[in-house]
Formats: sequence, C-alpha cells, structure tokens
Amino acid sequence: MVYKTRAWTADRDLRLSELSYVEDSRPAKYDELLIGRPIFDYMHPEDIAVVHANMLSSSGDYRAFGGAVCRFLLGDGITIVEEISGSPIFDDAKGFVGYRGTARMIGGIALGSLEASILPLDTVYARAPMALCVIDRSGRFLAMNDRHANLLTSTVGQSLSDHHPASMEKLNDDFALLDRGEPVPDHEARIDDKIYAVLVSPLADALGNIVAVSVAHFDVTERRGLEEQLREANGRLTEMALRDHLTGVFNRRYFDISIAEEESRIARVGGELSLIMIDVDRFKLYNDTLGHLAGDQCLIAIAKAMSRELHRNADMLCRYGGEEFAVILPNTARRGAEVVAERLRRAVERLKLPHEPNVPYGHVTISVGVASRSQPNPHQDGTEALVLAADGALYEAKTSGRNRVGLAN
Ligand code: GH3
Ligand code: MG
Ligand code: MG
Repeated sequence: MVYKTRAWTADRDLRLSELSYVEDSRPAKYDELLIGRPIFDYMHPEDIAVVHANMLSSSGDYRAFGGAVCRFLLGDGITIVEEISGSPIFDDAKGFVGYRGTARMIGGIALGSLEASILPLDTVYARAPMALCVIDRSGRFLAMNDRHANLLTSTVGQSLSDHHPASMEKLNDDFALLDRGEPVPDHEARIDDKIYAVLVSPLADALGNIVAVSVAHFDVTERRGLEEQLREANGRLTEMALRDHLTGVFNRRYFDISIAEEESRIARVGGELSLIMIDVDRFKLYNDTLGHLAGDQCLIAIAKAMSRELHRNADMLCRYGGEEFAVILPNTARRGAEVVAERLRRAVERLKLPHEPNVPYGHVTISVGVASRSQPNPHQDGTEALVLAADGALYEAKTSGRNRVGLAN
C-alpha cells in the first residue's frame, strides 16, 4: 500500500496550481498531467459529485472539507485513490482566491493498457483449466466454476459438510493452519478414478482476517501415469546397464561394483567372501570349428546351466569378459566355495555339448579357480588380491589338464 501525502493548491478557478510533498518525496510521473488543470479533471464522475457537495455550503459558499475518497482515472489503465481534504483561501478583502489542502494516497492500481483486450476476471475463472471454488469458514461454497460443479456435484450456497464430511474436517485444519500464518501444503486427492493436485490459498477481508479459502483442483492423473512409466523405464535401464546382453547374467560393471562392496563389508564388519573364476576350455577352437554364432549359443547354455547351480539369493554370476565368468559368493567360506565350484564344473560337463578338439573330453568343459578370504589384507588392495588368487587357481586348473577346480592357497 502506498501512503504518500502531498499538499495541493488550487486557484480561484479551481485549477491545480501546485503540488508539494509532505511525506515521501518523489513526484509521481502523472503529476505533470494534473498541474494547471481543473481539480476535477481525471476525477471519477461519482466522486466529483461528492467532493463538490462537500466544498459548497448550503448558501453556495466555498468551505472546508475533509476525508473525501476520490478515484483518479489517469489513462493507460492507471487508477489512483486519494483521500482529499481542503480549506478555502481568502484575500484581505475576504475574496475567494483558491484552495489549499492535502491529498493522501491510499492506493494505485495499474491494469495496463491490455485491460481492454483481456477477458473479464469472472470469465477467466469460469474457463480456467482446473476446478476452482471459494469456501467460507462454515464450509459454504461462495463461488465455483463449472468444472468444480461437475467434479464435486455441488452448487454455490451448498455446504461441504452436507456432501463431503471428511473434506469439512480437512477444511477446518486448513483454516487452523492459515490462522497461524502457515501455508496449506499442496496435496493430492483421489476423486472417482482420477488424481488431483489440490491447492488451497487464503482469502482475507479488508482487515486482514481470513474469511474464506480459494481451492483449486488440478487433474494430474495423466502426469502421474507418465511418472510411473518413467520410473519403470528407469528401473529397466538400470537393470540393463548391469546385465550382459548375450547371456543375461550380470556384467563386468556389476562385478566390479559388487566385489568392491563385499570387500569393504568385510573390512568393516568382518566375515567370509569367496570368488570363483571360470574359463571355458579351448573355446577358441570351438569357434573355429562351429563358428561364432554356435559359440554364442554355447556361452548362453553355459551361463544358464551355471546359474541353476547357485541357490543363494546373494550369489552373483557375472560374465567377466569373453568366455570367462565369475561368481561372487558373499558370506561363504572356502569349503562351501569349493563345493559350489565343483557343482558348476559338473553342470557344464553334463550339458554334453559336442566339442571334439577339446581332448580328451570331446565336449564343452570349464576350468575353475576358487579363492576365499576372511580378513582384509591391509597391505594390498583386497579386490585385486582376491581376483589374482582366483585367477592363479584357474591357471593351475588349466595347466593340470582342464575340466577341473583349482584352489588358491
Ligand atoms: P583355454 O582352454 O586355454 O581357455 O583356451 P581358449 O581357446 O578358451 O582360450 P583363449 O583365451 O585363447 O580363447 C578364448 C576365446 O573365446 C577367444 C574367442 O574366440 C572366444 N570368445 C570370447 N568371447 C566370445 C563371445 O562373446 N562369443 C564367442 N562366440 N566367442 C567368444
Ligand atoms: Mg580365456
Ligand atoms: Mg578359455
């Protein structure tokens, strides 16, 4: 609110001759419009009549007046409201020479020149793309648009408590919040099969008392659906980023993340961890004789057979690279890991996939290396040490005849 008081002087023809500022100082840009013009210029016609009546006594003489609230329409959509007081000035011969008084600015509204081209506010309200209503403290609907009438099958004058007792309770809570000066948090409501965002804002009277609320219901059903789809798609993407596209088992990225997590878990709280490394025997020759497509199918079959042998949820079968796989066995000591490793070896052997060059077996086999640890080794990066140990054990299995399980010390 602007409170600017200024002093004004008018000549005997009631033309404004001077404006000076009593309080707050800046001349308004429209002042130059007013100087030299009759004081009734720009004044709202209804207010001219009131001021005029106040200025003249019953005998038609000028007299002092006060507290006249006047609207000035300044063009360009600017309206200012002032409270005006004035006293007549007389010369020595008691002749009327003008007026002197004060004008206190009460407020200004700038609607801008767009005013004429935009729709009236009630039309905007009626056509808003959301359900709108105004509800007073007793729950009575003071206003609503058609969308709201359809949404809650209610009409102006009806009370919320008749139709929606639960909402009436919520309304009371909202008023309690607003009375404490807190905003009502935006929330969602399910009405029929749709989801609405509900926005509640206070409406105050001239003294600042909150007498009603303006409520907007905004349909977010479609948005929620899209968000759900997006969440699912993101979940699938994350899953895809961690899976090997050929065999469907976890990929190298997942292996690196998981083994590091398991190592740090042991470092923190202790426990056991085993790692099994697997390499397909003479797989280059398999490709050379049967072709790469057959090779791919073979890798898929091996991965499937091995994953059937892992019974604990925490066990992780990963494609380490090429024709190499790795299995992380959390909370598993060496003895258990050896048993699992042997089960994997046998499962692939049982597939009996023909592979003649893999002498002396004649079918597809794997070599396996197992390493376990129960303590973090402060002198070496744990992850690396475990992989190296399992790799060493795998190398032993290869050099001592393939199709067997090697154990790290
Ligand atoms: P070894 O018993 O010593 O492990 O012999 P190997 O022939 O398996 O060893 P090497 O590491 O020399 O060969 C691995 C071969 O695995 C090389 C490549 O032709 C094949 N290979 C690696 N990744 C894939 C794949 O994704 N698809 C197919 N079809 N073959 C692959
Ligand atoms: Mg290899
Ligand atoms: Mg190999």
